[in-house]
Parts: sequence; C-alpha cells; structure tokens
Amino acid sequence: MAIIADLISILEGMNGIIQENKDFLTQLDMPIGDSDHGINMARGFQAVADKLPSLAEKDAGTILKTVGMTLVSTVGGASGPLYGTAFMKAAVVANGKTELTMEDFLAMLDAAVEGVKFRGKSTTGEQTMLDAMVPALEAMKAASGSAGEILAAGLAAAQAGVENTKGMIATKGRASYLGERSLGHQDPGATSFALLLSVIAKHFA
Ligand code: ADP
Ligand code: MG
Repeated sequence: MAIIADLISILEGMNGIIQENKDFLTQLDMPIGDSDHGINMARGFQAVADKLPSLAEKDAGTILKTVGMTLVSTVGGASGPLYGTAFMKAAVVANGKTELTMEDFLAMLDAAVEGVKFRGKSTTGEQTMLDAMVPALEAMKAASGSAGEILAAGLAAAQAGVENTKGMIATKGRASYLGERSLGHQDPGATSFALLLSVIAKHFA
C-alpha cells in the first residue's frame, strides 16, 4: 500500500492541514479548554515537517518514532504526550519496514489507540480524540475493498465520531472541568485526528 515516499508525503500533508486549520482548532478549544489546541498542533507538526528531509532514507519505524518524540517535545498540553504516544506505538509496529500494507496500518492504528487509552486513562464516550480514533479503526477493520475504499470508510466514521462528541459530557482533560456544560461542544482533539486521517485517505483515494 505505502512506501517511505508515501509516508513522507503524508506527514508533509498532515503539517499542511494542521496549519490550515490552526485557528479553527484553537476556536474549538476556546469554550471548553484553553484555546491552544491549534497552536499546539501547528507548532508540533511544523517541527515534524522540518525534520522530514533528514528522514527520507529511514525505515517507517524510525520515521514514526521521530515524529512521536518530536510531538511529545513540542506540542505540549494533553494532546502532545497523547499524539506522541500514538505515533511512537505505531512506530513499534512499523519497526524496520520500508513498505506498509493495509494490515500494517490497521495494526499501527490499533497500537496507537491502545497507547492513547493507556496514557490518557481514557476510553470512548468521554469527548476526546478517542471518539474519532476508535470508530475509524472499527470501520476500517470491518471494511473491504481497495486501500482508498477502506480509508474512506474510516474517515467517514471518524467524522461521524467528531460530530458525536457534541452529544457527550467530557470526563477527561480540561473540558471535564466544565461537567455538563461541555455538552454541545465539538472536541478539538477528535477534530484534529479526523483532519490527520483525511490526509491519509486523500493520499490513497
Ligand atoms: P490541553 O487540554 O492540555 O490544553 P490540547 O488543547 O492541545 O491540550 O488538547 C486537548 C485535546 O486532548 C482534547 O480535545 C482531547 O481530544 C484530548 N485529550 C485530553 N485529555 C485526554 C485523555 N485523557 N485521553 C484522550 N484524549 C485526551
Ligand atoms: Mg487546550
């Protein structure tokens, strides 16, 4: 499905979409958080993009591990360690590989989800990024067809998951301080995950 050039191009695209949506993500974080999710993610993915030229000859595991460590050290907030963990867990699955299959990708996303759950002590239904990640993973596991078709199913599920966060009461992260007042708000982290997945889906569409 993917070679290193695809991975590098996808990571560049991830930086692009995060920069484009920096203000939007920050606005989502305004009523329920501290108005920094877009700023945090934009800082982290710019740092990732800056490292990509030095990674083109590496294997997927090394690249993703570098991405994860870069995100942990630059994003900050709750989302930095969580996205950092997600990429570092995916890196373990991709260790030594210079080609990735759809099966590899699903195993990587599975490991990423488990990493976020463990690190965040969180699960679905708590108005977090997991409410986009888990539906996406489940939809892709259930889907069949080409990589493009499977990723499209995953993206649709992630986007539906983002929408569903509006009907949830946050019990993790800063939004949980609001209790029931978090109801009606779209989760910033779920939104950024759907944006990142959209880059992968578009690449293989
Ligand atoms: P902070 O909340 O520290 O300001 P950000 O604004 O960058 O960090 O990120 C907030 C996002 O992080 C939330 O929208 C949510 O998706 C995610 N998040 C926060 N805590 C958790 C957690 N325990 N588990 C999973 N995701 C979480
Ligand atoms: Mg915040």
